Amino acid sequence: MTRPQADVRRIRRHWHVLCERIGNRYAGTPREQAAADYVEGEFKALGLAEVRQFRFEFPGWDFSRCGLRIGRGRKMRRVSTAVPMEYSVGTRRGGARGSVVYLQGGSKVDLDRDLRGKVGLLIGSLALGDPATKQRIVESGMTALIAVDSRIPFDWKVPIGAAPQWTLGYDVPTCCVPYMEAVRIVRDLPQSAHYDVKTRAFPAASQVVVGEVAGTEHANQVVMVSGHHDCVRGNVGADDNASGVVATMELARLFSRRRPKRTIRFVSFGVEERLSVGAYLYMRSLPAREAGKIVLACNLDSVASHVGQDVVTVTGSPALERLVRRHWERRRHPVRIDRAVTPYSDHFPFNIAGAPSLWLSRPSMTSSGYWTLHSEHDNLDNVCPNVLARTVDSVYAALSEVATASRLPFPRKISPALAAEVRRLAKSAYHHPWSAKRFDYERFK
Ligand SMILES: [Zn+2]
Repeated sequence: MTRPQADVRRIRRHWHVLCERIGNRYAGTPREQAAADYVEGEFKALGLAEVRQFRFEFPGWDFSRCGLRIGRGRKMRRVSTAVPMEYSVGTRRGGARGSVVYLQGGSKVDLDRDLRGKVGLLIGSLALGDPATKQRIVESGMTALIAVDSRIPFDWKVPIGAAPQWTLGYDVPTCCVPYMEAVRIVRDLPQSAHYDVKTRAFPAASQVVVGEVAGTEHANQVVMVSGHHDCVRGNVGADDNASGVVATMELARLFSRRRPKRTIRFVSFGVEERLSVGAYLYMRSLPAREAGKIVLACNLDSVASHVGQDVVTVTGSPALERLVRRHWERRRHPVRIDRAVTPYSDHFPFNIAGAPSLWLSRPSMTSSGYWTLHSEHDNLDNVCPNVLARTVDSVYAALSEVATASRLPFPRKISPALAAEVRRLAKSAYHHPWSAKRFDYERFK
């Protein structure tokens, strides 16, 4: 219908800079900073107001050497796809060894047995955010744990992320192997494992880039548009989440030529991959009055895979859901709209602060997963500029209405059932409130 607003040439250029010129943007590294500087430069060139970087300290983490060997008797083979879980401690001198025990998904029954001196293997989500599970593992006496990110059922390397606040006091050296590797290990039991790794944790710095177009009438009502510029180790994060940052820059360009009634704030977060550390600390840095001005958090994360299904997760009111449906339908843009709460991207800290949100994403598997997730396949070959341009256009249309309506077209409210779920997840998944300053670095000494 209307001519495309998003500029595919600019989209390609931003992607090229973030993923090829800069490359891997692992949290706390100079390349993460370089990506932030690029976004800041773009915001300034567009003439946005209040452009700045909010800098914060967080627990950095790194490893050197990581060797996992599996086998029987003297016939041990090296698992080249093994990587330590983020924030895992290292092994003692000589490494950790033991016979492998299959712990399935790590339920209470799986963990309630004599595991002293053993190496556990857990396929399922390692629920370190759950204090009871964490305690069971710590007290089990296992010498090491092998875990699998079961969302990604392939044979390539996928590091498991962790939130710093989940891992306080967690001292079992933990590594990750691909799903298919875990299948081979379990199939060939009994087996023993030898795991040797050196890790360290240290105070590191990251940043949130902010810029805005001030509202002409309701400047105190702020619509936030965001992505995150950091990515996991071992890839260039073209989809997760250069795609969201590129979309944010394109939306900033489109709105920079307008005079909206409400303020639109464009944000690129750091350290999302450890459970939105940057977004959380930025939200917590705002005085309550400032946080209360945010009327909508529109967050884009992993939105550009070739094969996929666009999903907008609405954490808000039925009126907000209708607004999204209306604009996507008007543009004949196929989308699945979910009314739900999800704590796994940068909109969630703003839900904690009471703001409704839209989370835009594009699962590339029918199970709602992402086949490239956190692997080397998350590169420029596997993202599509036209897919991204279409999403930018739909978001632009919807947010134009939000920014220019004389009355906000939805309440700054999250429906009661969803709000209860936000409160529950804030406590459980987020351990809210937590402070990066209280991280226990001693564990790594
Ligand atoms: Zn992401």
